[in-house]
Amino acid sequence: MTKQNLDWGSLDFGYRETSYSYVCNYKDGAWDEGGLTTDHTVTMSECAGILHYCQEVFEGLKAYTAENGDIVCFRPDMNASRMADSARRLVMPPFPEDKFIEAVKMVVEANKDWVPPFGSGATLYVRPYMFATGIVIGVKPATEYQFRILVTPVGPYFKGGDTAITITVADFDRAAPRGTGDIKAGLNYAMSLHPYEEAHANGYSENLYLDSATRTYVEETGGANVLLVDKQGNLVVPQSATNSILPSITRRSLVQVGRDLGMNVIERPVKYEELVAGEFVECGLCGTAAVISPVGHIESEKYGSVTFVDGAETSGPVMRKLRETLTGIQTGKIADEHGWIVKIA
Ligand SMILES: *Cc1c(COP(=O)(O)O)cnc(C)c1O
Repeated sequence: MTKQNLDWGSLDFGYRETSYSYVCNYKDGAWDEGGLTTDHTVTMSECAGILHYCQEVFEGLKAYTAENGDIVCFRPDMNASRMADSARRLVMPPFPEDKFIEAVKMVVEANKDWVPPFGSGATLYVRPYMFATGIVIGVKPATEYQFRILVTPVGPYFKGGDTAITITVADFDRAAPRGTGDIKAGLNYAMSLHPYEEAHANGYSENLYLDSATRTYVEETGGANVLLVDKQGNLVVPQSATNSILPSITRRSLVQVGRDLGMNVIERPVKYEELVAGEFVECGLCGTAAVISPVGHIESEKYGSVTFVDGAETSGPVMRKLRETLTGIQTGKIADEHGWIVKIA
């Protein structure tokens, strides 16, 4: 196979059909063998459960070329177990975790020529997802499901360089206490689209959500967890008392990286008023795609505005160190002491 002839550096975060997807069906209480397909469409009943009662969960990870030329991915076991947790919460049959990892390897290997070269900044985004295909009209879980993985090459996240973004505080809620905020389900995104469009129309990159019970504590943005650095230099990770923050794999990895670097890491509930009082000097949003996006400002008339003095224009020193270390481990420049990198080809 030869590499696709793409301008890797100028790709954006969009969908482009590749050679193969992976598909596996659940029926009569069991997953079938599963395998690759060149059919990038889905056909199902007009009465499929996903279309009515929204049984759908998904994952996101990336495959990329390491410095030594290997095609690798980052901690797919974490995506496998989180997807199984998400599925159980929506009464869907969890996709077997070892089969998940095999499927990721199979579909990435089959699409090897779509994996961007080292140094391009681009990656092959891997999107596993599963949904109810079984017929449901009265409210109940379906009995048939489809698991798929699509892959698509996406461009470098920081195109315009490492520029700090300005976000706002949403007046809507993302996740109910003891609701579905801690699982990766499409339904959590459907209701965030309206506040997202509103934030954009007002010139903001993202929404920060507060806990919906008291509207006091910092939770996360629509699709990324929050990291903070306080005036004393501690890395502070907001925790939810009501299980409404999505357990980001990037965040959990950065907490480990921070500890490995000798940082003092504190995971605790954080009040928004602490931010307004100027207790924190850096802020970042973390997720698979960007690793860490620096936040320079939070603007809100209602809740108060914040400037992160050590990272107002570009990443502050702590966020930069964390990002450089994690991306260094991912590309193979820094030793992978925790066994996070999985070789595919
Ligand atoms: C996927 C996601 C994240 C980031 O998780 P990663 O595993 O780091 O990619 C954060 N918040 C929400 C709501 C998400 O859906």
